[in-house]
Amino acid sequence: MASFTLQGIPVSRGIAIGRAHLLRPAALDVQHYLVAQEQVEAEVLRLQDAIARVHKELQTIWSDLPQDAPTELGAFIDVHALILSDPMISEAPLDIIRSRHYNAEWALVTQIDELSAQFDEIEDDYLRERKADIQQVAERVLKVLTGSAHSVPRSDGVDERNANMIVVARDISPADMMQFRDVAFSGFVTDEGGQNSHTAIVSRSLGIPAVVGMGNASRLIEQDDWLIIDSDAGVVIVAPTTLVLEQYRERQSVLQKARKKLNRLRKTPAVTQDGVEITLLANIELPEDAAHALEAGASGVGLFRSEFLFMESSGQEHKMPSEDEQFEAYRAAVLAMKGRPVTIRTLDVGADKPMDSSEHNVLNPALGLRAIRYCLAEPQLFLTQLRAILRASAFGQVKILIPMMAHGFEIDQTLAMIEQAKQELKAEGRDYNAELQIGAMIEVPAAALALPMFLQKLDFLSIGTNDLIQYTLAIDRADHEVAHLYDDLHPAILQLLQMTIAAAQKAGVPVSICGGMAGDVRLTRLLTGMGFRELSMPAALLPEIKQEILNTRVEALQPHIKKILRSYDAAAIRETLAVMDAIGKTLH
Ligand code: PEP
Ligand code: MG
Repeated sequence: MASFTLQGIPVSRGIAIGRAHLLRPAALDVQHYLVAQEQVEAEVLRLQDAIARVHKELQTIWSDLPQDAPTELGAFIDVHALILSDPMISEAPLDIIRSRHYNAEWALVTQIDELSAQFDEIEDDYLRERKADIQQVAERVLKVLTGSAHSVPRSDGVDERNANMIVVARDISPADMMQFRDVAFSGFVTDEGGQNSHTAIVSRSLGIPAVVGMGNASRLIEQDDWLIIDSDAGVVIVAPTTLVLEQYRERQSVLQKARKKLNRLRKTPAVTQDGVEITLLANIELPEDAAHALEAGASGVGLFRSEFLFMESSGQEHKMPSEDEQFEAYRAAVLAMKGRPVTIRTLDVGADKPMDSSEHNVLNPALGLRAIRYCLAEPQLFLTQLRAILRASAFGQVKILIPMMAHGFEIDQTLAMIEQAKQELKAEGRDYNAELQIGAMIEVPAAALALPMFLQKLDFLSIGTNDLIQYTLAIDRADHEVAHLYDDLHPAILQLLQMTIAAAQKAGVPVSICGGMAGDVRLTRLLTGMGFRELSMPAALLPEIKQEILNTRVEALQPHIKKILRSYDAAAIRETLAVMDAIGKTLH
C-alpha cells in the first residue's frame, strides 16, 4: 500500500505510532471495549448464548403465531432464523472477538457494518433490501446482549497489542471518549471536531496524541493500517515507509526523554525570573484524574468539569448520579488533592456535551439551554448537585464555579439556591464549609463586557477562553469547517481578556484562566505579561508551561504587551509575540 499523509487540526502533543482501529458510526451506538486475552472465550460464549436465545425467541414467535396470521409473517420469521444461522452472523463476529478482542456487541456491529456496506453495492433491489432484515436480526441479538451486559466484567487487562492502537472515527462523543480511558489506546484521529471541542479536551487530558477535523480520514484509512500521528503538526501519515517509521520512532524517543526531564520540575515552584509567582492548576474530568494532577505538580484543581459524571455513552440507558454518588466523587477528588483547592464547576451540559443522545436535535445547542441556564431550569437537579458539592466542602478546600453566566439574575438565583442548599444541610445536621468561595466563568462576551455585574457578588472569576472565543467570533468550536477561524489572538479576544483582568484587579477579585489558552505554551508569556497569575490546564501540559514561566521575565515583557494590546493587526500581533519568544529563549 502506498503511503499518504492527511492534514487535520492538532489538539494535543506528541507522536503516536500504531495500527488503525476503525470505529464505524453504528459501532458507537453500543459499548465498545477490549476484552483481555483470558476473557476472550467467555466473550465468545456470551455472543453464542445471545444468538441461541434469539433462535429460541424466533421459534416461540413462530409457534405462537395465530392461525389466521398472514403466511408472509411465518416466512419472514423463517428468513430471520436463516440469517441468524448464516456463518456471516453466527461465526464471523466470533472471529472478530478472537482476533481483535472486541466485546461481543462491538464485534457484532462491526460485522453488520461490513455486511451492510456489501449489500449497498448489490444491484438487485430485492436483495439489497434484505440488509434491513440483517439489521433487525442484529438488533435482536444486541438487545439480549445489552440486557446481560452488566454481568460481564469490563476489561482492565491491556496488552501490548491494544496499547499500540489508534482509534479512527468520524467523531467520538465526549461520553464515548470517556470509555477509552480504561483502554490504553495510543492515539485518536477523527473526521470532525475543532481545537477545543470537548472530544479534543478529553484527549488532551488523557495526554494522548490526537488530530481532529481530518475531513474524511475514517473513509481513507482502513482497519489495521499502520499510522503515525504527529500531533504537533496535525498530521497523520498512513502506511509510512520503513524509513519514515524509523525517523518518527527516533523523534518519539527524544520527546519522551524531554518529557521525563520536564517532570523533574514537578516540585519546582512556578516563579518567573523576576520573582512573579504563577499558580498552575489542573483541569480534571473525573475524580481519578486528581492523581495525575498531583503527579504533574499542580497546586490544585482549577476546573473539575463535573458534567462528565452525568454523561452516559451512547447505547446505555441514561441515569442521573444521585446526591450520594456525586458527593463520593467530589470528596474523592478533594481527598486526592490533599488539602489543595478543588474548584468544582456545576453541571455544564448542552452544546457539544449532551447528557444523552436524544439531545442532539436542539436547533442551536451552543446558544440554547446550556450550563447555568439548564441548571436553573431544573432546580431539583441543581439543588442535588449543590448539596453534594457543599457536603464535599467539609473535607477540604472546595470552591464552586458557575459556567456560562450572562445575566445578573442568574447569579442572584444561583446564590439563592446555594443558600437554600446550605440551610437544608444545616437543618439536617450535615457538615459543610459555610465560607466556601463562589465564582463564575467568564465565557460569554456579555459577561466580560459587563463585569461589574458580577464583581460585587462573587469571590473569584475564571475565564473560559474556549467558549469566549466561540461566542465572540461566532464559530462553533466543534465544527471543523470553521476551525480555521478559531483564533485566540484575535484582537477582540485580547481586548476582552484585558478588560476582564483590569476590572477584576481594580475590584480585588482574583481571576484565572481555565480554557485552552492557559495550556498553550505559545501564549504563556502573553498571559503572564498581561497580569494573569493563575492558569488551569490539562495536567499533561503543566510541566511545559512551568518551564516557560521559569524562562520568563515579566517586567521585560511590558512594552511588548502594550504594543500587542494597542494593535488591531493580526500579523503585527504575531510578530510581537515572536519577539517576546526570542527574548525568552535568551533566558534559557
Ligand atoms: C471554556 O469554555 O474555556 C471552558 C474551560 O469550559 P469548557 O471547555 O468545558 O466549555
Ligand atoms: Mg466553557
